[in-house]
Amino acid sequence: MTAHVTQPSTDPLSRLPAWVTRVLAPNPGPMTLDGTNTWVLRSPGGEAIVVDPGPLDEGHLGRVAAAGVIRTVVTTHHHFDHTEGLERLLELCPGASVWRPSTEDGSLGVDGLELRAIATPGHTADSVTLVGGVGDERVVLTGDTILGRGTTVVAHPDGDLGDYLGSLRLLELLGPVPVLPGHGPALGDCGAAAAFYLRHRLARLDQVAAARDAGATTPREVVEVVYADVDPELWPAAELSVRAQLAYLDRKR
Ligand SMILES: [Zn+2]
Repeated sequence: MTAHVTQPSTDPLSRLPAWVTRVLAPNPGPMTLDGTNTWVLRSPGGEAIVVDPGPLDEGHLGRVAAAGVIRTVVTTHHHFDHTEGLERLLELCPGASVWRPSTEDGSLGVDGLELRAIATPGHTADSVTLVGGVGDERVVLTGDTILGRGTTVVAHPDGDLGDYLGSLRLLELLGPVPVLPGHGPALGDCGAAAAFYLRHRLARLDQVAAARDAGATTPREVVEVVYADVDPELWPAAELSVRAQLAYLDRKR
């Protein structure tokens, strides 16, 4: 089984809920797809929560600050492409504060807008997924745990494959809720996307085990066999995932 990075994991979402705005940062690249998605969620009363400020780019942060009355800023994980603009955004939004769900569990309510954090380690140790809701309408903000296109990197040694598989199984249970990912388009069904990611990961794991049994010894050699169908520009990232997979296989021996 191959999953090219351009392949969607499930059907895209046709229309965002009226209380959700996507502000796309101008940092496209092989690891960030079209750029980082900064999500602005607005309460019925007009107060807003920002998920992932994105890079330190004045134009981008200005558009984020203008997308609502920003009260709270939260990040899905520590990677720079999601967090670099945090301090500047707080300067642009007086009265806004930071919520750190990786160290404070539970949920946050802003004027009819609810946000609940679920620890979903794997891409990084500190990755969280946020379930947002207004009334009966829900969305799942997955950071880099599930992307809008292709699959993500398990950033070994901070990321861990066993943790990641557990997180995907948890997200699969959320069922057909729209996904607002850290990169790429919004998806229609969290459960289906998580199931696709699980299948892909387990298939890759079989390929890595087979490559090793066939004599590949270094992570790089494994990448050249298993990721032959992927743009070589992504091989350094693939090597991180391979290291995570080799560590996982070693633990299971
Ligand atoms: Zn990212």
